[in-house]
Amino acid sequence: MSEILFTYDYKPWYQNYFHWLILVSLAAWSLEIIIPWRKKQPIFRKDFWLDAFYMFFNYFLFSLILYNALSNVGVQAFNDFLALFGITNIVAIKIAALPAAVQLLIAFVVADFIQWNIHRLLHRFPRLWEFHKVHHSVKEMGFAAHLRYHWMETIIYKSIQYIPLAMIGYGIDDFFIVHLISLAIGHLNHSNVGWGYGVFGYILNNPKMHIWHHAKELPNKYGVNFGLSLSVWDYLFKTAYIPESGKDIELGFDHDETFPQRFLQQITYPWRRGRN
Ligand SMILES: [Zn+2]
Ligand SMILES: [Zn+2]
Repeated sequence: MSEILFTYDYKPWYQNYFHWLILVSLAAWSLEIIIPWRKKQPIFRKDFWLDAFYMFFNYFLFSLILYNALSNVGVQAFNDFLALFGITNIVAIKIAALPAAVQLLIAFVVADFIQWNIHRLLHRFPRLWEFHKVHHSVKEMGFAAHLRYHWMETIIYKSIQYIPLAMIGYGIDDFFIVHLISLAIGHLNHSNVGWGYGVFGYILNNPKMHIWHHAKELPNKYGVNFGLSLSVWDYLFKTAYIPESGKDIELGFDHDETFPQRFLQQITYPWRRGRN
């Protein structure tokens, strides 16, 4: 533990992220074992190892993309590019003048609102939905399902999310901390733990709410509960939906019985399907 905390200064951030991924995963898994919501669900639930593989695959890809494309050098290049057109100060907020905690809170809220919107688009546009189906192919919910998603999602989410933050003046370290907090909340949202956080559930996304996002039977065509870290957007924009306890509802999507079961088939699915 002390190693994880104290290596932050001199180890590259992506190595730290690897430690945090392991730590957060073990914490969420422990909760599933100690206080399971669905008591009959095995500790090694259906697709546990598939999802574990997705976790590491997406971790390495995420590191690679962020490290290379979205490094401070990349952001500087992007800002220089904008400067060519005379755009030098897009957002007139002096973010650096605010206390560090306030800066991070703003980054967290802005990033989450952006990802809430991206998530809605993934459900709205059929081409994007083909990629997002991977995440919705989960049939038995557990923490590792959080990172079962197509690698294209990393590219879509992180580039759209990071560019506005970089333009307001955030750096890669801020983005990293925000990402860690989102990782922990996201892991919990997918855990087999019956938490709704009481009144805080109206602000923070939670397992009892997110399970309905994965429901096979939905009240509308495009889905509900799009929140990732915060649930408040769904309450504000009337997409929140928790009609009853979602503990034992069926998960998935229409015709998911024909969706491939294995990693390689799943990640090539959107293109193979596009040819049909
Ligand atoms: Zn979704
Ligand atoms: Zn999910």
